[in-house]
Amino acid sequence: MFINVPSREVAVFAEADIVVVGGGPAGIAAAVGAARHGAEVILLERWPSVGGQATNALVNIWHTSDRTKQVIHGLVQEVIERAGMAMQRLANYPNRPETHEFEPGAMRIVFHRLLKDAGVRTICNIAAIESIIEDDRIRGVLVDTKIGRKAVLGKIFIDATGDGDIAANAGVPFAYGRDIDGKVQGMTMMFRLCGLNPQKICANPKEADRVLALMKDLRKDGQFPPFMDFAANSYLHGPRPHIVSYNMCPVAGNPLDEEDLTRVSVQAREQVQQYVELWRREMPGFEHSEIEQTGFSLGIRESRRIIGFKTLDRQMVVNAAKQPDAIGHGFWMVDIHDPDGSGYTTWCDRGEDSMPPVGDSYHIPLGMCLNKQIANLAVVGRCASSTHEGLASVRVQTHCMVMGQGAGTAAALALESDVNMTSVDISCLQSRLIADNVYLHDIPKRSDKFNKQVRKKMLPQLSTA
Ligand SMILES: Cc1cc2nc3c(=O)[nH]c(=O)nc-3n(C[C@H](O)[C@H](O)[C@H](O)COP(=O)(O)OP(=O)(O)OC[C@H]3O[C@@H](n4cnc5c(N)ncnc54)[C@H](O)[C@@H]3O)c2cc1C
Repeated sequence: MFINVPSREVAVFAEADIVVVGGGPAGIAAAVGAARHGAEVILLERWPSVGGQATNALVNIWHTSDRTKQVIHGLVQEVIERAGMAMQRLANYPNRPETHEFEPGAMRIVFHRLLKDAGVRTICNIAAIESIIEDDRIRGVLVDTKIGRKAVLGKIFIDATGDGDIAANAGVPFAYGRDIDGKVQGMTMMFRLCGLNPQKICANPKEADRVLALMKDLRKDGQFPPFMDFAANSYLHGPRPHIVSYNMCPVAGNPLDEEDLTRVSVQAREQVQQYVELWRREMPGFEHSEIEQTGFSLGIRESRRIIGFKTLDRQMVVNAAKQPDAIGHGFWMVDIHDPDGSGYTTWCDRGEDSMPPVGDSYHIPLGMCLNKQIANLAVVGRCASSTHEGLASVRVQTHCMVMGQGAGTAAALALESDVNMTSVDISCLQSRLIADNVYLHDIPKRSDKFNKQVRKKMLPQLSTA
């Protein structure tokens, strides 16, 4: 059923050179990258604070190394330094990239300060709901405010919504879900507990084994909800002394369907309650534990993947593919959480064939952020162009920030040079990123025949000057 809505004039609420929609890790990096290169930038965020999944879904782990050296620097490293005590470097696990854990509440402040210091005009509590298209370019986005619908205008737009809302609404094609059945990765409700007795927990490993076995038995009989086995095992065997974000509560659903998202969010909060009730009863050290908080939002790993000039796939990840239009490096494994919400993740079977070789990394290309349809629109973060498997690697926050910083800097350079982002001088962009401390190595030589062919096929308009 449809109804006609009368056309009407809409007031312009704000205007800038570059409008970034979505204030998650990717959007923050894009806004700061663009602003530091002279552009006037507005960042629009629908939630009350920026940080996306990092703050509002309590996803508080960053990874920065290829298991031998740090290969993500730039804005990621700057945020690590700015976070100070709010970010802890955890010991390198064998066979696992270097890890940092942060306090999501404190990170909100770190991100807002970073944006303010860069001169970004950040407006939270505003959702962009529609793209205004004129002559195959985005002129503006419509936003819903407390006093009605308004417009935000700009010269270049960066869609960092995680869901690709702006690009999809502008008519850029997108993919959704895995090839076999169209399902996206499972979602997770992160939660934090307080009132634990870590000494008691660590002193009772046999009890932890017993409780885990009990959880599995009850789950098998349908009397206990799904959970991520390896994560539950590690939390029961020895929490760190400070409050930990628990990443073990899986659900399945469609993150683009508001009603379904509501249903699975409620279901997930019930599941958390069930875990904690059992632990209080059964596990020494958990007797006085309380749920300090569950995520403001359910953690979402995958929804729309906007189709761009280049699509990052599994082979590019595991073969550590290098790209002439590289804007940074990625190394994370093809890490897929069961779309049916069982809690199984390929993380459990992490093998050498699911990530680049130790000491190597793949290039994140600018081409995965740009598209053929709308020349003044870049897409960054988990909605950029990738396959279901490619996204399973590049979706991690540090990689999204690399993408954001690269595309934001490209947008500022495009404005400065008065060209489309597809025509920016790539060497100049890469030099700027390196000057901004971005790790950028092994860029294929321009004379390489293979790369010439790739460029011709994938990025016909990209300048090599
Ligand atoms: C449970 C879980 C565990 C994870 N574990 C890790 C991990 O250990 N390490 C790691 O690095 N990554 C991890 N990830 C992945 C990572 O958190 C996300 O993929 C990453 O946050 C994506 O960043 P983003 O900026 O693209 O999107 P998001 O973080 O999703 O941010 C998008 C932002 O856009 C805003 N927005 C959306 N639509 C609109 C609109 N129309 N108008 C205005 N604003 C809008 C949202 O409110 C949000 O703030 C995990 C993810 C989940 C769910």
